[in-house]
Amino acid sequence: MPSVSTEKTVTTPTNDYLATHYVQRSNWLRAAVLGANDGILSTASLAIGVAAASVAREPVILATVAGLVAGALSMAAGEYVSVSSQTDVEGADILREQKELEDMPELELQRLAEIYEQRGLKKETAMVVAQELTNHDALGAHIRDELGLNDISKAKPIQAAFASGASFTVGGILPLLVVLFVPLSFVEYSLYGFGIFFLSVLGALAAKAGGSSIAKAVVRITFWGTVAMGLTATVGYLFGVSLA
Ligand SMILES: [Zn+2]
Repeated sequence: MPSVSTEKTVTTPTNDYLATHYVQRSNWLRAAVLGANDGILSTASLAIGVAAASVAREPVILATVAGLVAGALSMAAGEYVSVSSQTDVEGADILREQKELEDMPELELQRLAEIYEQRGLKKETAMVVAQELTNHDALGAHIRDELGLNDISKAKPIQAAFASGASFTVGGILPLLVVLFVPLSFVEYSLYGFGIFFLSVLGALAAKAGGSSIAKAVVRITFWGTVAMGLTATVGYLFGVSLA
């Protein structure tokens, strides 16, 4: 029977260790996939709608470019505003925490110990850990363990806005290429075909990176992509008929 060594080398988790988990990628990924999905779907739908109502290529190109620029800017602005308000809330929480630590340090120490107890430490151990972490960096310990804020979850408005705007643009360029290069008579079906293809590839990538079911993701995005592009094509077609 091989002897089991009781000596366990405990290594402090470095940032690289955290990065190996899905959580590190999830924020960026979600913003990027959401942006690209939106870029493909809203630009392709807009282009299909205009193409269904138009007999020339120029209005379709114009509408697609305008939709792409407007969509990218509104996506970036929306992300910036929503993430900034999250930053504001986090900032207000941290200030309040700081005040509570100044006004009632004993109660705060107790609260921290209770959190560690709930996580499985014995009462005495929890108090020792809470005391040591409080001595080391009281506010940091409360921000991390009471408010649940850490570097990974910290809101970064500029990065989020940039990621969303850029990924929308990348997504929207795909339908634009179709509008520029495919013969006009095939534009609607090509936009639909390429749109669903690009959306499925993105959906599969996001599911793989997020560790969830690829098949489910592809079926879901194909269904909603078809609904969105189908409805706008119908509206465009009806509009075209009424103009003729
Ligand atoms: Zn606290």
